[in-house]
Amino acid sequence: MPKKGESVVACLSGGQDSVANIGILLKEFCLNVYPFFINRGQSNYKYEKKAVDYFNQFYKRKFLKLYHNYKEITVMTPGAEYKDLLRKTKRMMDDIPLNHNISYPARGSIAFLTGMEYGYSLKAIGVEVKTVFASNMNSDFSYHCSQTWVRLMNILFCQILNDWSWQFISLPIETELGNSFDKDVFIKWAYENGVPLHKARTCVKSFDIECGDCPTCWDRRKGYKEAGVKDPTKYKFPMSSKYPTYYDHEKEEKHEKRNRS
Ligand SMILES: [Zn+2]
Repeated sequence: MPKKGESVVACLSGGQDSVANIGILLKEFCLNVYPFFINRGQSNYKYEKKAVDYFNQFYKRKFLKLYHNYKEITVMTPGAEYKDLLRKTKRMMDDIPLNHNISYPARGSIAFLTGMEYGYSLKAIGVEVKTVFASNMNSDFSYHCSQTWVRLMNILFCQILNDWSWQFISLPIETELGNSFDKDVFIKWAYENGVPLHKARTCVKSFDIECGDCPTCWDRRKGYKEAGVKDPTKYKFPMSSKYPTYYDHEKEEKHEKRNRS
């Protein structure tokens, strides 16, 4: 981990994970945090932005010196020219184990390469950044969220910048630090530290409030359950019964184990 007072860049998507992650970097590690928010043409942009603005004010009030206003960066990913096609492909793959993990394959890398570049650009105003934080969990099933991806990206940052002191870290899956955890740990931390995490936006749909019945909403509900924290989120719909068959991690793990053996 970077030392107290060092400057780092962290993704702020408006979702629970990135919000809690930034809180931990500020409170537990006393790091100078420069968040970035990617406007990538997401359909729930308005609501993500609202959450980002809320937590920007929240952290600025609490950590006047360490927290810096977020930088909104517009990078369309996936490209609008083929987004519909890609969506169709993704839907074709969604029910095939080990294929639905491909998701939007370039999105994570493009977002965090941009974050790295933003960090590097801060040199111009005398801010030395060498570390970029993501907040991927051990339940994030996309290949572009895995620890392997984190390490590959880390090497890419170093190679591109010709500086091997750069780091790319996602705390929940840093097994070198003894970590391998899920949303419940972040939810519990936020609850215990007075961070109103229910104001974060995780739902990918374009309803004004969380839909309650998409994969990210399922994860959100599961996280609160596992954390043993009452979920104050207002949902539009109850959770349907799709969850156990469509999104069963245990089933998925069993399948992967079978594949490996
Ligand atoms: Zn939802």
